[in-house]
Amino acid sequence: MTRISGIHHVTAIAGDPQENLDFYTRVLGMRLVKKSVNQDDPGTYHLFYADAAGHPGSDVTFFPWTHLGPGRKGVGLTTEVTLAVPPDTLGFWSQRLAREGIEVGDPVERFGEPTLSFADPHGLELALVETPAGREFTAWEAGPVEAAAQIRGIHAVRLWESDLARTASFLQDVMGFSTQGADEGWHRFECAGGGSGTIADIREFAGSRRGSWGRGSVHHVAWRVSDETAQLAVCRALEESGRQPTPVIDRFWFKSVYFQEPGGVLFEIATDGPGFGIDEEIERLGERLILPPWLEPQRMQIEAALPSLAAT
Ligand code: ZN
Repeated sequence: MTRISGIHHVTAIAGDPQENLDFYTRVLGMRLVKKSVNQDDPGTYHLFYADAAGHPGSDVTFFPWTHLGPGRKGVGLTTEVTLAVPPDTLGFWSQRLAREGIEVGDPVERFGEPTLSFADPHGLELALVETPAGREFTAWEAGPVEAAAQIRGIHAVRLWESDLARTASFLQDVMGFSTQGADEGWHRFECAGGGSGTIADIREFAGSRRGSWGRGSVHHVAWRVSDETAQLAVCRALEESGRQPTPVIDRFWFKSVYFQEPGGVLFEIATDGPGFGIDEEIERLGERLILPPWLEPQRMQIEAALPSLAAT
């Protein structure tokens, strides 16, 4: 039951897409690896930021739903995305963010690792954690941040839950996670032997109000499986435990299944392949709008309705 090998991606809700693009590419130095539309709502972009090669585990993706108000933080939601950076780079990041007018405090230690927390321009809570190398990573040579300091990928996610024990036993018994102790009220769970990119930290707020999605909220966390066989096995285990995973949905760059964990947080199980290179050359990722085949006949109308987006 250890078929889940880490975090695949996190998808969040943004406001204005140009501001979103500017922050993640120009300020955080991530690469736009896919510019697409929300497959259920093609009037909205779906923007993917990752390392230069779009490795699974490195991408944070956004639906810029400009009509939504701010999200309400509460239980049953993922409340922070934690990104990995190399050791001894938080000083650089702290200065860079402050120069951009982003409010940053002093670094703190979390589970023994130096951490800098802040929010993106639309209220999504982020943190940078210094963590040793050892991840799949391709530097974005054309990016604005030098390779030695670039974001390596998603380190962890933070979840608020009303019942820690319920989600803890689900993660351990069904998803194959192990528990790694607690720090400052946060309980750490890891999959696949642990390490950067495999971590869910949970805090219990018993009796607290359920959070709701809005601008700055995490929409879902996707967990990695190597292939469709592993995905099927996870789905069977989910069903046996009483979860109700959706049928497999083909996202072209990976195959996806969605379900709610017992505390209400939306999870996805996504395959590692085929990856972002399937419909664009790696050198040209993110340059043109990519549509699923069934929307291709409407490309002109879709492009005309989307706000224009200038590379930063
Ligand atoms: Zn997803």
